[in-house]
Amino acid sequence: MARTFGPVSQRRQTRQIHVGQVAVGGGAPVSVQSMTTTKTADVEGTLAQIYALAGAGADIVRCTCNEAEAAEGLARIVPRSPVPIIADIHFHVEMALAALDAGVNGLRLNPGNLRKPEEIKLVASECRDRGVPVRIGVNAGSLHPEIYKRFGGATPEALVESARMELAFFDEVGFEDVKISVKASSVPTMVEAYRLASETFDHPLHLGVTEAGPPPAGLIKGTAGIATLLAEGIGDTIRYSLTADPVEEARAGRQLLEALGLRERKGLDLIACPSCGRAEIDVIGVAKAAQEALEGRNIPLQVAVMGCVVNGPGEAREADLGIAAGRHKGHLFIKRKIIRVVQEDQMVEALVAEAERIVAEGIEARLALADVGAAAEAEADRRALLEAKGDDVNRSEEVVQLIRRKLARQPGEAAPDGKS
Ligand code: SF4
Repeated sequence: MARTFGPVSQRRQTRQIHVGQVAVGGGAPVSVQSMTTTKTADVEGTLAQIYALAGAGADIVRCTCNEAEAAEGLARIVPRSPVPIIADIHFHVEMALAALDAGVNGLRLNPGNLRKPEEIKLVASECRDRGVPVRIGVNAGSLHPEIYKRFGGATPEALVESARMELAFFDEVGFEDVKISVKASSVPTMVEAYRLASETFDHPLHLGVTEAGPPPAGLIKGTAGIATLLAEGIGDTIRYSLTADPVEEARAGRQLLEALGLRERKGLDLIACPSCGRAEIDVIGVAKAAQEALEGRNIPLQVAVMGCVVNGPGEAREADLGIAAGRHKGHLFIKRKIIRVVQEDQMVEALVAEAERIVAEGIEARLALADVGAAAEAEADRRALLEAKGDDVNRSEEVVQLIRRKLARQPGEAAPDGKS
């Protein structure tokens, strides 16, 4: 049996919340988070990065929601994301409300720059009513000025006090699905702040060393802070903050948890789209069958199961190999290039056979043997599916219109129909 890092087994008990389908705290596996660096309004670019992050080990991904176009982007991204999406909110309460309309699975609020109690309580009430959890994300670099003054700086006590004050607003409206972070770029400050937070709150803690910088120094700082705390049993979800491709953050997070024995090692990396209005197959069923068929074989590849050929190969463009559903057919792709079309009932079999050939012959050799007619067939299927189902199968555009109408009003201003 794999040996785990001693003290880690004595994890501090926290209450459990759910970010989408991912449980955080309360004995759930420590999860890995990262954040996109694309403009959230760039839906296809952001989704491709989210898939790459999921493939590298991210369980949850955060996207900024800093402008109306970003909120609209989230309305289009959330139904197609393979992992839960958290909207990062700074300054603008109306962006928090728009992100909720967009269907995000969580919000991150910065108490340092979203300061009005009535606005915080408004967001907390909306989150309570919709069952969407919130991270109170305190950051030493943007600490509330009054707290900074009172404590004479961004001390560990000051960071925890900021979280405590924010939490009081959530308590006032009876909302408990909250996790907390008290990040600093100084490792000793961050470690002390989280130790104190762990004694003060029973909410799940999101660990991170903020603005750690580029690798390797950023990786070392992140690991020094996060691993120290995890080894003490503190922490329920983690994020490395690197000045680098965020895929490196996700990979580092995953590798750290595996190194500490907190997550199982992965050989095969199977990713699957969440399925949405475009899906042409039972994605969950096919993904499960693929997992069972591939498990136990030594296949160190990232393999994707995607519900449609309209968006699948693009969303999973970092995958080594994948299958996307067309009209009663499966389109096999390697590194985004369609190489073969198979019958729907042969999808899993074809996927497994191709995975084994890639391992034996290499990706380039398999790409060279691509069926020349496959790309044209995929394109025909893509067009036919778009025509049959239209452009808005996820009703994203309806939500975008709703966000536009609401953002045209000021926060607190009543809607024409009397609803908020
Ligand atoms: S069905 Fe298609 S559009 Fe929907 S999530 Fe899957 S791959 Fe993306």
